[in-house]
Amino acid sequence: MKIAVLSESPADEAAVSILIEGLLDFSVQWDDFPEPPTRGCNGVFKAIEPTLRHLHYRTDVEALVVTLDSDESPLHRREHVEAGSCDTKCRLCRLRAKIEAVQAKLRPRQGRGPIRIGLGIAVPAIEAWCLFDTDSRISESAWIQALQSRRFPFTKKSLKQTLYGSIDSTLALETKRLVEQAQRLVKEKQLSLLERLFPVGFGILADEVRSWRS
Ligand SMILES: [Zn+2]
Repeated sequence: MKIAVLSESPADEAAVSILIEGLLDFSVQWDDFPEPPTRGCNGVFKAIEPTLRHLHYRTDVEALVVTLDSDESPLHRREHVEAGSCDTKCRLCRLRAKIEAVQAKLRPRQGRGPIRIGLGIAVPAIEAWCLFDTDSRISESAWIQALQSRRFPFTKKSLKQTLYGSIDSTLALETKRLVEQAQRLVKEKQLSLLERLFPVGFGILADEVRSWRS
């Protein structure tokens, strides 16, 4: 299966690719697309249309995974979908709406269905997925409580400090550390625990990716 990953940085994409492969029981071919002009959350939103168009018309990619950090945005809730209207600040709903709008404009591909989409939101950041099993304070529920109480047992900055030794590291170091941790999680079979402790941001992505097995 050929899959592409779009995220806030190439370091995030490298780590997410390893986690996706850990969820699937077959080998994955990874596909590239033109580098987005800007990165970060806004860069990803801007890159969705050109990236999807490129993958749809110029490649035989079957699935695209998009992940973002939540930062302090409200976490996705099932009611967002059930009510039929998305929360304007929920990044998962914003991603889904943007992708559906772009896909609605694409012509069908000869002999192939639309690209399948997996969406993940790392709460509050990808470093939490990579460090959660080394610090029992790190989970989605802890972050939701922290947002409500405004008392934060960990922050995006503290996670970066722990993983990289500084909050302003290089892309090379971030890639190395995130990849090491993602490989460790897969090797130590921690993905089901990751899913339990991050049921929305990782769990929804994991459910979707596993549906690609059949
Ligand atoms: Zn939502």
